[in-house]
Amino acid sequence: MHDSPNYDLVDGSRVAVIGGGPAGSLFSFFLLQMAERAGLQLEVDIYEPRDFTRPGPAGCNNCGGIVSEWLVQALAMEGVPLPPDVVQRGIESYTMHLDVGSVRFEPPTHEKRIAALHRGGGPKDATEGQWASFDAHLLNLAQQRGAHWVRARVDAVRYADGKIQVRSSGKEFKTYDLVAAATGKHVQSFKIFEALGTGYKPPRMSRTYISEIHLGNAAINEHLGNSMHLFLPDVPNIKFGALIPKGDYVTLCILGQEITRGTVAAFVASAGVDRCMPPGWVLPENCCHCTPSISIQGAVRPYADRLVFVGDCSVSRLYKDGIGAAYRAAKAAATAVVYYGVSARALEQHYWPTLRSIGRDNLFGRIIYLVTTIIQRVRLIRPGVVRMIRREQAHPDAPARMSSILWDTFTGSAPYRDVFIRTLHPAFILQFLADIVVGMFAPAEPPGKEPKS
Ligand SMILES: Cc1cc2nc3c(=O)[nH]c(=O)nc-3n(C[C@H](O)[C@H](O)[C@H](O)COP(=O)(O)OP(=O)(O)OC[C@H]3O[C@@H](n4cnc5c(N)ncnc54)[C@H](O)[C@@H]3O)c2cc1C
Repeated sequence: MHDSPNYDLVDGSRVAVIGGGPAGSLFSFFLLQMAERAGLQLEVDIYEPRDFTRPGPAGCNNCGGIVSEWLVQALAMEGVPLPPDVVQRGIESYTMHLDVGSVRFEPPTHEKRIAALHRGGGPKDATEGQWASFDAHLLNLAQQRGAHWVRARVDAVRYADGKIQVRSSGKEFKTYDLVAAATGKHVQSFKIFEALGTGYKPPRMSRTYISEIHLGNAAINEHLGNSMHLFLPDVPNIKFGALIPKGDYVTLCILGQEITRGTVAAFVASAGVDRCMPPGWVLPENCCHCTPSISIQGAVRPYADRLVFVGDCSVSRLYKDGIGAAYRAAKAAATAVVYYGVSARALEQHYWPTLRSIGRDNLFGRIIYLVTTIIQRVRLIRPGVVRMIRREQAHPDAPARMSSILWDTFTGSAPYRDVFIRTLHPAFILQFLADIVVGMFAPAEPPGKEPKS
């Protein structure tokens, strides 16, 4: 049901998209695609100050750069395949490192579908043009659909004469029928929207850590292989850490609550990182690194008349698959505005349910991360975890209950709710308890290096 014809997008309607990360580019792509199907011609301006082809912070949107297996497939079906020069490495397995041992687990289907990539033009010490950027690829696709890239930062948004207006880099206000906010985690940009008084409250954020470590392709193949290395160390505030192999670099990512320099040092010293890095390796002081925020609780009222929020500035997925959540939000928002209009009521009815389902799924995610935190803190449980995965991986025909739970949790391949339900299966609980008990009394195996894939 439409509120009023004034809130419908019509031929010639103008749309401003603020932010050209995955959420903004995918929203523009789907908006133009659906408008064409509905017989509408829209003017779409994407405001984005960054040139994503540049190496270092200037072109980077600070991320681990893992595109989950379901998303690689979904994008390909949408006509957004990932070209080989964007995908730096196909991840074939995950290797989990605990103080009691390392264990590798593989995807249930044994297909190489997870992509490791750089969001921008690579780390700061990479030569310009060396890496093809994921964000530049998506922005190009949106431009090919007909969007205009305005290389500028938006500094104000206001309502005027029943429409919405946008000002960039201190210039004049421009009038639009719809603004899509896709500003990610940028705190300064949140203030622009809070000032509108629509009831929008930005997502709650937490500080994380990323660095790009140059090892060279040969050393990466030798020490890490095509495996993502996952660490659950008993270090306060850390949910998990990961080493993600790419072309010549390894991305070190630490997620949790307010990660500080001290937490990073404790992580590198305690987590078994030495087991998968070359002998004598130390974290270089001057490597490309950043401490970006990650959304840990969704925004309040991420829609208003003529205003819709997509991606991290709305509701994202807890700790994993933020790009996948941006894709889902972008497609749902584009569908809502083309087919139901741009009023707050239409967005509440036809867009908000998608965000609400991501937010509700995060509640199950919180329970799952509570369990992984208990595993981190209680040493007696850990040998049981390693034992159970080793047995499952040694018998590929038997049900891989623990492996699939960990795979889907840490790759973001399945909703947290599905993963949670699987943890309640009596066969899983009984087997896990048995492995914990046996693990308590079995002689500890030395935590040797897990063979790479
Ligand atoms: C440490 C860490 C690791 C992560 N790892 C992964 C991972 O491996 N896989 C995964 O799927 N997700 C991961 N994420 C989450 C992922 O980065 C985000 O979910 C994703 O980037 C969200 O996309 P977005 O377009 O909403 O925001 P962003 O990618 O942040 O893009 C926002 C864009 O808006 C622009 N912008 C901001 N303000 C303005 C303004 N006022 N005017 C104009 N432009 C503006 C910015 O320049 C930026 O380009 C990780 C996050 C963190 C912090």
